[in-house]
Amino acid sequence: MSSIQATLQTLKLVSPEASCNTDLTKGPWLFDTGEADYGPGSSQDDVAPADTPRQGEIPAEYREASDAELTARILAAKETLGDSLVVLGHHYQRDEVVAFADFVGDSFQLANAALTREQARYIVFCGVHFMAETADILSTQEQAVILPNLAAGCSMADMADESSVEECWEQLMDLYAHEDSSDGLAAVIPVTYMNSSAALKAFVGKHGGIVCTSSNAATVLEWAFERGRRVLFFPDQHLGRNTAKAMGIPLERMPMWNPRKPLGGSDEATLHDAKVILWHGFCSVHKRFTVAQIERARVEHPGVQILAHPECPMPVVDAADAAGSTDYIQKAVAAAPAGSVFGIATEINMVNRLAAEHPEHTVFCLDPVICPCSTMYRIHPGYLAWVLESLVDGVVLNRIEVPAEVAADAKVALERMLAARP
Ligand code: SF4
Repeated sequence: MSSIQATLQTLKLVSPEASCNTDLTKGPWLFDTGEADYGPGSSQDDVAPADTPRQGEIPAEYREASDAELTARILAAKETLGDSLVVLGHHYQRDEVVAFADFVGDSFQLANAALTREQARYIVFCGVHFMAETADILSTQEQAVILPNLAAGCSMADMADESSVEECWEQLMDLYAHEDSSDGLAAVIPVTYMNSSAALKAFVGKHGGIVCTSSNAATVLEWAFERGRRVLFFPDQHLGRNTAKAMGIPLERMPMWNPRKPLGGSDEATLHDAKVILWHGFCSVHKRFTVAQIERARVEHPGVQILAHPECPMPVVDAADAAGSTDYIQKAVAAAPAGSVFGIATEINMVNRLAAEHPEHTVFCLDPVICPCSTMYRIHPGYLAWVLESLVDGVVLNRIEVPAEVAADAKVALERMLAARP
């Protein structure tokens, strides 16, 4: 039995009783033709923008094929495409898709992994839209980046749209226009999380700012404070707050910016005193974790180590034993002595995969209800088979292309991140 067949055989079906939304048991193509939305499992707080890309219906042969047939067709297409293809699978992607990935990792690791395959003309990114954009920014002009389902977006990334950030920036520039600048620092440095559109990465590139990941957010904030009196951090308030708090910045100097309110819902005095202005964005997956879940895990599993992703709310991160990126969590579990017990606050597909990869430990998700990232869920082997077989026929579907001028500015912000050192 091949490792792919073994992986597929160990799949656990999502049962309607245990999942946060019974529609997660259905094929994602059922949600490709309606209104723009994030699909089953997204929270009530997530409202997809009207211009959210829609997938449209894929051919019936891919919607109706059995798992075994799709596996055979994907493997055959991969074989035919050979070195001209690289398939990337994000940690939060479902196992049935990750089974075909040449690289598995976080968004930035995957974009960099694709760079090691210079001969790959096609980069098929089994993640979400901003990840495919980042891969396109970093790849060569000859390479095409493909997102198997165009509706695989990211609700957090969409919470900071370009026009709202531009408007915020104008208000802040007006507010700080007469500030004493004898210290030589900028009034504000914009910092965007990797989970943002290419347009926002370009925005920060143009305005002296920088990109961060969940692995290097503290280093990036230090870089920013060497150049500015404050930081405007978007879109994830939780990563910004958790990171700044760990650096000793008091909460009262971290006002929130709600783009729907005048002055972001804050006031001039607070914004003058601010060190980090936090955009009102969040990840619906990580927002589900609570301190009560941690308390219950400690009672039910004495000695459990709680690891939380920094996209979780601050009380959860504070109550955890450690917090870190997906890479950190993966390494912490791998390095632990056999018999360790981990309660993990991050996306269910990654936690289940860690549990399967480490039978020597007990690894479980803190959220007892299975609620995967609703947008990653939109990619299913049927879409992968569809885009790969089209490539075999010489047709590039679902290409993600960032305009050259946007890519150039975004690359400046990404390169600043790479150059930032602790
Ligand atoms: S887990 Fe959250 S931040 Fe990550 S892609 Fe899904 S919605 Fe976006």
